[in-house]
Amino acid sequence: MMKKVFLPTLLFFFAVALVSCDHDKDAPQVKAQSPPPVTPADTPKLSLPPDSGPPPTFDSARAFQYVKEIVAFGPRPLGSANHKKVEDYFLAHLKADEVEHDTFTADTPEGKFPVHNIVAKFPGTKDGIIVIASHYDTNYPLRNTSYIGANDGASSSALLMELANQLHGKKPDGYGVWLVWDDAEEAIKPDGSGGLRQEMPFEKDSLYGITHLAEKWEADGTLKKIKAFLLADMVGDADLNIERDSNSTPWLEDVIYEAATRLGYQSHFFVRTMAVSDDHLPFVKRGVPCADLIDFNYGYDDVFWHTTQDTVDKLSPKSLEIVGTTVLETIRILDKLDPLPPK
Ligand SMILES: [Zn+2]
Repeated sequence: MMKKVFLPTLLFFFAVALVSCDHDKDAPQVKAQSPPPVTPADTPKLSLPPDSGPPPTFDSARAFQYVKEIVAFGPRPLGSANHKKVEDYFLAHLKADEVEHDTFTADTPEGKFPVHNIVAKFPGTKDGIIVIASHYDTNYPLRNTSYIGANDGASSSALLMELANQLHGKKPDGYGVWLVWDDAEEAIKPDGSGGLRQEMPFEKDSLYGITHLAEKWEADGTLKKIKAFLLADMVGDADLNIERDSNSTPWLEDVIYEAATRLGYQSHFFVRTMAVSDDHLPFVKRGVPCADLIDFNYGYDDVFWHTTQDTVDKLSPKSLEIVGTTVLETIRILDKLDPLPPK
């Protein structure tokens, strides 16, 4: 994935202090010196359902095994034989489930490529859908290297496979859950990441698969049924710090923070705020509540991102468990949050 605009926490506090000053001109010094604590859960006043039931189950060892199996295919760039193998691998995993195939040909700066979004549908009892997405292709400019995208692509795709295990054969007492393995997310031309110079901006040459799916679902009326779109990307880092993304929907991020807090995982969430351009953007643009669960500090200053050092040894099953159970707890809260906040 790519790209980020980092908003340093200090700057964020300073901005909060400035805003506060505006509203409270009598005590600007006090506010500036000691800004009020800002926790994401403070912002919108959601009326949250009580914490109930045991924590969700998520088999992190099995999820981690899936990461290893995905990267064992090798680099999975668009149009490659390995890409086809990993498509078949997901479909074998989902053979008992209802699957929608969104296939088309993407016209990219490197030519035409087949694209395959895979959607597994788990119906619920309530009218509405919660979508959880992850891309599975690997960075195209690195296609002739040993780059396997263990964190960037494999970790979140494996997470969705384990979520599928938790949903198989159970009718959730709530919204339907659709898992999306989206394709052709990565830039085709070098976009300035991974130490390569930029030949094309990310915005003009990426997100081919998820954009097509958003357009399709807008045209066939599915989009109106989507209550929330949760994206997982780079969620396997052993040193897990999920960012608060300012392109995401604040109330939905607050529900995620509440879910993490109920599980005791809140220290892994939202310490930093940044604007992330990722697979959620086509749904953000169409007014769907979205949240990107991404750790964009992969190694000091993101040194492993889009490099051949993005390997399994940097990852941890515990990180998959933190994100996986937080996603499941988020769904549980959303199911009981009636009505959901306006879009
Ligand atoms: Zn990437």
